[in-house]
Amino acid sequence: MSILIAGNGIAGNETAFRLRSLNPDIPITILSAESSAEYDPCSLPYYVSGEMVREAVFRKSMEDYARQRIDLRLDQTIVSIDRSRKIATTGNGELIPFSKLVLAMGGSVFVPPIAGADKRGVFQCKQLSDADALASRTGSRAVVIGSGAIGIEAAEALLKKGFHVSIIELMDWIAPVLFDADTANRFASAMEARGVAVYTREKVLAIAGDKDVCSVKTDQREIPCDTVVLATGVVPHAAIARDAGLAVGKGIVVNAFMQSSDPDIYACGDCVETVDACTGETAMYQLKHNALEQARVAAAHIAGKPLPYRGAYAFARLHFLDIHAVTFGKTQRSTACELGQLEIIEKASDTGDYLRVIVKDGMVAGGQAMGAYANEIGLWMGAMWRKDPIREIRNLPYRYYGRSVGRPWTQRRLAQYLDAA
Ligand SMILES: Cc1cc2nc3c(=O)[nH]c(=O)nc-3n(C[C@H](O)[C@H](O)[C@H](O)COP(=O)(O)OP(=O)(O)OC[C@H]3O[C@@H](n4cnc5c(N)ncnc54)[C@H](O)[C@@H]3O)c2cc1C
Repeated sequence: MSILIAGNGIAGNETAFRLRSLNPDIPITILSAESSAEYDPCSLPYYVSGEMVREAVFRKSMEDYARQRIDLRLDQTIVSIDRSRKIATTGNGELIPFSKLVLAMGGSVFVPPIAGADKRGVFQCKQLSDADALASRTGSRAVVIGSGAIGIEAAEALLKKGFHVSIIELMDWIAPVLFDADTANRFASAMEARGVAVYTREKVLAIAGDKDVCSVKTDQREIPCDTVVLATGVVPHAAIARDAGLAVGKGIVVNAFMQSSDPDIYACGDCVETVDACTGETAMYQLKHNALEQARVAAAHIAGKPLPYRGAYAFARLHFLDIHAVTFGKTQRSTACELGQLEIIEKASDTGDYLRVIVKDGMVAGGQAMGAYANEIGLWMGAMWRKDPIREIRNLPYRYYGRSVGRPWTQRRLAQYLDAA
């Protein structure tokens, strides 16, 4: 029995090291498209801004692999899979046999068909090599194209490096997958107050310049700049799986044990399509906690100690300097095409705190919060998971804290929120 893992990111490493802890003898090989030990992609913006030294981004050293007898092969990609012979071919033509293959190849930045996207001075902020290039970049004006979590973090890092930063979003508001308009507009205003120019509903037409970038042209303006960061979404690396005849939807389709449509080929992390743990609906949330859990499930199944996957969690945190926001579950927009009754609970303070809870058919379906309300978002998440009927919570006597109340304090606290909403 031999295990081959494609991808040395969060999911690939967790699979390998978890599997080693469950089975001391099984031969494990990781093929890595990159040239270093595992690092944490979430930390890259802090390295770019100069707040963290490069060494601090690493989660493993090369010695860790050796100590656990994991054969890490750097700068080697898997390019195709012969499923009938159980052989993977690498980019340099090597044929590697496997008993079980784990596809943990993450995703790559979607590069929109913008003229000039290949000019010098255009960067991404996805991998360590991107962060190396951005960390050493000197300049004065940067444009970030795309306002998802990575775009916002890249904008913050560049601002801290002393750049004048603009961020451009094609859709009606920033972070459109994570936020509804009201939350997004508050977050964008706070970003603007901290020195970033935010442009929404604006289409980038071209990145201009001779060899080096000198401006970004949109359908509404031209922004002079020396640095551009593409943060236009992450597309899963699923082409190899599709070519091998595996089922692929938005990402590689897996079952509750992270097996693809071929039971000897597993997949986990940003390259898979799975289900939402709360609703059971098809989901693809490209987040670290999901990648880690999926990898543990794959490792357990390979080791013969199956542990079914409950599904992915839609929970993300966004921050910009001192502003922080959280989002969980569905947005109002993502529920727009569903049947059912929708209610929005909102609370706002003069100091920029904001809470927005999406209630569908009398139960919490999602929420977004900024500032102080973000600290208590767990209360609403709990209500979503328990499927608390909001009508009942509204009627709870929260002002009376005697033992006879007979409800957990979390629900009484929610009643307090609802009374004031
Ligand atoms: C800047 C940034 C900030 C983030 N912040 C957060 C955050 O705050 N919270 C959060 O939950 N998530 C965050 N994420 C997302 C999180 O990092 C990902 O969800 C997580 O890394 C996914 O792990 P993965 O192993 O699936 O993919 P990755 O970590 O991307 O690893 C995949 C690896 O596979 C390699 N690979 C690709 N193709 C092949 C091939 N053919 N052969 C071999 N290797 C291959 C890739 O080069 C890469 O090294 C952030 C990501 C970035 C980039």
